[in-house]
Amino acid sequence: MNKYLEDLVKLSKFDTQISMFEPQIENEKAKLATFVETAEAIKVSINNTYVLIDEVKSKRTKNNIHLAELKTKLDDIAKKHKEVQNEKELKALQLEEEIAKEQISFANEEIARLDEITEERESQLKEFQEKLAQEEESIKDIQIAVDNQIEDINKQRNVVYQQRSELLEKVDSKILTFYEKIRRWAKDTAVVPVKKQACYGCHMKINDKTYAEVVKSDEIINCPHCGRILYKEDETVEA
Ligand SMILES: [Zn+2]
Repeated sequence: MNKYLEDLVKLSKFDTQISMFEPQIENEKAKLATFVETAEAIKVSINNTYVLIDEVKSKRTKNNIHLAELKTKLDDIAKKHKEVQNEKELKALQLEEEIAKEQISFANEEIARLDEITEERESQLKEFQEKLAQEEESIKDIQIAVDNQIEDINKQRNVVYQQRSELLEKVDSKILTFYEKIRRWAKDTAVVPVKKQACYGCHMKINDKTYAEVVKSDEIINCPHCGRILYKEDETVEA
């Protein structure tokens, strides 16, 4: 293979590898993000539950105050019983007493209902808190794993950078400029193999004459359709 072409194939492979490191790192970070989002959602649920419990407790307090008022009223009615003058007054007082007692029983029922709700919410709250603790534990583990992965990726990236810069020292500057120009639009597919006599960049069929030149690899051949640099991959590699 032409030496310049050989360099370009190597360079292109390094550049492709380098481009793939960032998505790998993003992918690692995304693993953690899912857990962090779950933890945040649980925190929101915990806060909402606290608000609901407060609301119910405040309703309970109101009912308690009402209950105390009703009991005072009952005491007053009991005192008034001694001062009753006639049947009509007695009936009115009895009715008042009956209503107060009904209201007391209603307030008690309401308090019992609210207590049940509070108990339910508090057990929910406990579940949320346990879930959050688990999630935070997982986050810690995943954070360590992700950090290690990213460190590995960065090490690999440094190796490729190093190899790339060593190669760059040897690459002919005109060839490099030529490559960079194609790379500007073709990104990581500036140098592509020919497979089944087609350009692996634009997937168009290469004519026999150009294909024969690519196979010969004596010089740098561009795809007649898209302009990418073509090379014939070793059969073993292609297989
Ligand atoms: Zn092409």
